[in-house]
Amino acid sequence: MSQTIGILGYQGCIEPHEAILASLGVRSLRVRTPEELARVDALILPGGESTTMLRFLKLHAMAPLIREFAKTKPLWGICAGAIIAASEVCNPSQDSLKLIDIVAHRNFYGSQLDSFSTQIEIDFLERPIEAQFIRAPLLSAMQPRVNSEPLRVHASLSGQPIFFSQGHVWACSFHVELGDEPALHRHFIELSRR
Ligand code: GLN
Repeated sequence: MSQTIGILGYQGCIEPHEAILASLGVRSLRVRTPEELARVDALILPGGESTTMLRFLKLHAMAPLIREFAKTKPLWGICAGAIIAASEVCNPSQDSLKLIDIVAHRNFYGSQLDSFSTQIEIDFLERPIEAQFIRAPLLSAMQPRVNSEPLRVHASLSGQPIFFSQGHVWACSFHVELGDEPALHRHFIELSRR
C-alpha cells in the first residue's frame, strides 16, 4: 500500500507541502485530529506560528499522540514546526513536544521584514538548495540528551546549525517548500518507506 504523508493542518504554510508531495506522486493528508494522525505514515510540522499551533494541539489532546507517533515514524519540523518539536524553547519560553534534543531560540534571525533566502548545502544532498528564513529560530544542541539516538547536524549557516536530525526526527530552521524545491521532501518520503 502506498504511503500518506501527514501535514499538521491547523495553521501556517501547508499548501506548498501539499503541492510538492502531489508533484512527487505522494498522497498527503492534513492532520488535525487523532483519527487523522492514525492514517499517516510520516508527519510534517509546517512553518507558521508555533504558539497558535500549540494551542490547537492542546485543544485536540494531540501532544502525547504525536510523541508516541514520533517514536516509530518520521517527523519533520520546519521553523515553527522545529520550535514545536524541540526539547526546550526560549525567547520567549513555551511548551514543546520534546521530540529532538535541541533548544529553539525563537525569532533569532529577526522580524518578518528581515526574511531572506539563500543557497545552503546539506550534507546528504548533491546540490545546494534554496532556503527561506522567515522569523527563523536559532537551533542548538541540548545537553543532557533525552533521546538515545545520535544528534546530527546536516547544514549550517554562518557557523550556526540550521538542520538537525535525531533518528527519524528532523528539525530545520528554514523553509524549502516555498521555492518548489523537492529534494528534502524526496529524502523525507524515503525515510517513511524504510
Ligand atoms: N517565529 C515563528 C514562531 O515562533 C516561526 C516562523 C516560521 O515558522 N516561519 O512560531
